[in-house]
Amino acid sequence: MLNKKVEDILNRQIEREAYSSNLYLAMAVWAECNGLEGTAKWLYAQSDEERMHMLKFIAYVNERGGRSIISAIEQPPSEYKDVKEVFEKVLKHEQFVTASINEIVEVTLNEKDFTTHNWIQFFVTEQIEEEASVSAIMDKLNLLGEHNLYMFDRDIMGMRSEAGSKE
Ligand code: MG
Repeated sequence: MLNKKVEDILNRQIEREAYSSNLYLAMAVWAECNGLEGTAKWLYAQSDEERMHMLKFIAYVNERGGRSIISAIEQPPSEYKDVKEVFEKVLKHEQFVTASINEIVEVTLNEKDFTTHNWIQFFVTEQIEEEASVSAIMDKLNLLGEHNLYMFDRDIMGMRSEAGSKE
């Protein structure tokens, strides 16, 4: 049976993963409407992955005798200056999610919930990959520059992390 504090912070994460999924969906729409097909594809795939994360949290909370809460999600921004701003915001958001996962780790230790502590390690590892993958995209974008956006957009799907594409 899940302890209340653990259940509450896992429910907070369900809402955050749902927001992540919608944020990347809004970015995908922006990219698609601006002729960036490859970037849109990457963002749609990323959005699906965040939904899978959300479902993983939901399944875990319910399986451990808790109850998942499906809450309202804040509307994500739909306008972006350029593709660089999109990925800067993706990176910033992933850093926020990493901090959020670390707070869950802290609560599981304080509450001596070693089962959830063990379970959440998947997401600790996942966040290392997410941040590394977005940093690599930022590097490539800086290297090619805005005038080579065609090449960037053509190559981006090849940069999806192995683990990420399986989840
Ligand atoms: Mg996630």
